[in-house]
Amino acid sequence: MADIIKEILKQLPQDKINDACFEGANIVLYTKDPGFFLDNEGAIKKVVDNIKKRVELRADPSATLDMEKAEKEIKKIIGKEAGIDQVIFDPQRSRVIIEAEKPGLAIGKQGAFLREIRKKTMWSPLIRRKPALRSKIIEETRGVLYQHSDFRRKFLDKIGHRIYDGWVREKKHEWIRVTYLGGARQVGRSCILLQTPESRVLLDCGLDVAASNSEAYPYLECPEFNIDQLDAVIISHSHMDHSGLLPYLFKFGYKGPVYCTAPTRDVMALLQLDYIKIMRSEGKEPLFTSEEVKEMVKHTVCLDYEEVTDVTPDVRITLYNAGHILGSSMVHMHIGNGLHNLVYGGDMKFGATRLLEPAATSFPRLETLMIEATYGAKDDVLPSRQEQEGKLRDIIKNTMARGGKILIPVLGSGRAQEVMVIIESLVKTGQLDKIPVYIDGMVWDITAIHTAYPEFLNNNVRKLISHKNQNPFLNEIFKRVGSQKERMEIIEEKGPCVVLATSGMLVGGPSVEYLKHLSVDKKHSMCFVCYQGEGSLGRRIQRGEREIMVGTSTRPEVMKINMEIHTIEGFTGHSGRNELMNYMQKVQPKPKRVIVNHGENSKCLDLASSIHKQNRIETGAPRNLEAVRIK
Ligand SMILES: [Zn+2]
Ligand SMILES: [Zn+2]
Repeated sequence: MADIIKEILKQLPQDKINDACFEGANIVLYTKDPGFFLDNEGAIKKVVDNIKKRVELRADPSATLDMEKAEKEIKKIIGKEAGIDQVIFDPQRSRVIIEAEKPGLAIGKQGAFLREIRKKTMWSPLIRRKPALRSKIIEETRGVLYQHSDFRRKFLDKIGHRIYDGWVREKKHEWIRVTYLGGARQVGRSCILLQTPESRVLLDCGLDVAASNSEAYPYLECPEFNIDQLDAVIISHSHMDHSGLLPYLFKFGYKGPVYCTAPTRDVMALLQLDYIKIMRSEGKEPLFTSEEVKEMVKHTVCLDYEEVTDVTPDVRITLYNAGHILGSSMVHMHIGNGLHNLVYGGDMKFGATRLLEPAATSFPRLETLMIEATYGAKDDVLPSRQEQEGKLRDIIKNTMARGGKILIPVLGSGRAQEVMVIIESLVKTGQLDKIPVYIDGMVWDITAIHTAYPEFLNNNVRKLISHKNQNPFLNEIFKRVGSQKERMEIIEEKGPCVVLATSGMLVGGPSVEYLKHLSVDKKHSMCFVCYQGEGSLGRRIQRGEREIMVGTSTRPEVMKINMEIHTIEGFTGHSGRNELMNYMQKVQPKPKRVIVNHGENSKCLDLASSIHKQNRIETGAPRNLEAVRIK
């Protein structure tokens, strides 16, 4: 038995606890004594205060009420209004998961129903939201976890042992270093290895969808990286340049945990599966299969914002809102029991958007900050959002007036939903006629995931979704495109409309299909709203190329771009230059050092030098394969 569990048992009344195990960094105790389960008179709280770890008390599986009876009891307690969908029992862990349309009603006033369920059934209830739009991927990821609950129990216990074994440990010589395996002085394939004498943690594991093969993947072959020694992977958000290569680690033999928010898990699984599909449709063999995506889901530990958890004996992490896309996070790492505090900012937006709160600025402690430089150069000042919303409105209006269609290539997650909410509001306020907005590719599924996790959205949208039955995503102007046939109907038969389609940089997927058909006619418009990676078709068109070679080498064809091309920068989920500089003024506490990454060469250097001048702190912009000793 682990030392920490022995220590806990010593502090509790004898004979009350008959089993104990880890669930990741959490410690779970089981009791057969119903009296103790329902009221331990503060004994557990005292232990928590003493050891400063999360401890949960559950009833021993043998003490729980028969499942069929328990389900009846639960439905009686919660009532019909909450819209209970499924009740799923996890008998080995004495947990019951209740999926409801209205989680607030299922919980009851200040958790009254949960207490009642514990009392009447001895099960420990967990409420999950059933999304307003049906989401296959959420059903599937939840399904995988329910099916493998036995695996999960053992897996989570193993993580706990890795964190706590050798709990009281003599101090070694301490140091911390980070090595850039990708994403330094570039956008794409973000991947950073953090090492201490005790731990090896990977921050993001991305892939550059716009790059050619040799440049597309992080440098996993570098000498510092050994997959057998890797303790944990933390994923900041679901974009492919941060999560795209993660399933490959599982193919390669990784068996440890992945930490991220729940929406990140669901959206990245969806994007990875879509990536496999696109690769296959282009006749290429993908690097991983859906089996490895499933393995990834089985090994993922979801964290809420500001939930503190140990991931190794000397690294404790907390995720904070990054304001970039649904579930995106800045990763705060408390290393070596107070030795150093590092924030990996991932991609972040320090500005208001329609969907999300701006990135978090306040941390308990902070010495080193890693910040993105996507728009880090002096001239990368973003125009105001209001102005850009007006620009979008005018593009749509003008194109429709001449009978054209508006193609908006989107990344699936982030800008797509932002644009949906903007168009919905323009229609609602009468600034635009009621036009059909076709949603193609991953966008619909990802929108459904947004409706499952309103707690990750800003106050405004959350209110619309949860309380008022005014869910903007459910507006009838939005129409799902499900097949090639429907796609062709929109192109050939339907009148003026807006089409939101993936991929965002025109590297495969339905957006390219629409482009091929619409590009030649100048009555149509294409409007870029997201970052166009170096080398992508989107970037080439944005730069002014109007004749694009398509087809194969034996049958070359030229695609003529006659349609109107627009770029709206203001909707980006990245911080513009002013927002980045402003963030440096606002972030608390002031970091002693800033490491700039995730931006083209000159932008990283420019931002690093400007932050140094403005804040008089050490800054740097390492290159790929460079390591930085931070302590
Ligand atoms: Zn991103
Ligand atoms: Zn990124």
